[in-house]
Amino acid sequence: MVQNFGIKLETEGMCDIHDITSKVEESIKKSGITNGLVNVFCPGSTGGITTIEYEPGLQKDLPELMEKIIPSNRPYEHDKTWGDGNGFSHLRSALIGPSLTAPVVSGKLRHGTWQQIVFLDFDNRSRTREIIITVMGE
Ligand code: ZN
Repeated sequence: MVQNFGIKLETEGMCDIHDITSKVEESIKKSGITNGLVNVFCPGSTGGITTIEYEPGLQKDLPELMEKIIPSNRPYEHDKTWGDGNGFSHLRSALIGPSLTAPVVSGKLRHGTWQQIVFLDFDNRSRTREIIITVMGE
């Protein structure tokens, strides 16, 4: 069986981090699937999905890391294409990736205690996002 769910997020951009673990767990529960996989996907080329320990220190460290490896204050070729100034957003999204798949075991998300599923909005403006959660299994 396969079931899809959508969740809406109001985001601020510039690498704001949203813990969506409880939403993923709710979707698994609603699906009634007890063993299989859950996939979390962001349709959009300036978002990212990954796991992290969602605590205040790392909530600062991760945006700092992004700023170091893909700075927001320099020009990118993409900005010449559209003039939207978010070349860095697309590059960060490509690096982190738009989706994540995790195991569903005995009706539960099989994640670590200190491992949350997070959505990262890398865009340079606020957005309304829809995240697609697909639960597949039996
Ligand atoms: Zn763009």
